[in-house]
Amino acid sequence: MCINCNNDFAVHKDWNNPPKKCGPCTLISRSFVDAIEYIIKDDISQIAMKTKLVLTKLVKDAGVLYKKRLADGEDQHIAWRSTERELAETVWYNKDLRSPVIDIINELKIQKRGDKLAEWNNQRRTTQFATRTRRWS
Ligand SMILES: [Zn+2]
Repeated sequence: MCINCNNDFAVHKDWNNPPKKCGPCTLISRSFVDAIEYIIKDDISQIAMKTKLVLTKLVKDAGVLYKKRLADGEDQHIAWRSTERELAETVWYNKDLRSPVIDIINELKIQKRGDKLAEWNNQRRTTQFATRTRRWS
């Protein structure tokens, strides 16, 4: 059972040391939306164009859904959380999306520890991501 959302989830390997969080919760805790926005906006050659297009459409649809929830009077934070959750489930249960997104999450994590240029890139990216909520709202 996931310690975060209490959902049961399957563990296919590592029975001795099973993960504490389910897949979607893991994606959320690792800022997967940042990774997706990075894939869509930056010119990442290792990600297939087809994957980029699918992710672009997913984010666009999620944005529409999020705005609809706000228009329906839902609290901004709750609206974001449920939209983020649905996006995480879609990405997690589609291995064609899951693998590239996790690769980029790991790459961004490495870059965070990297050299000055990477640091600068991260700052630039953080500034972009800071505008995310504004763009989503
Ligand atoms: Zn969970």
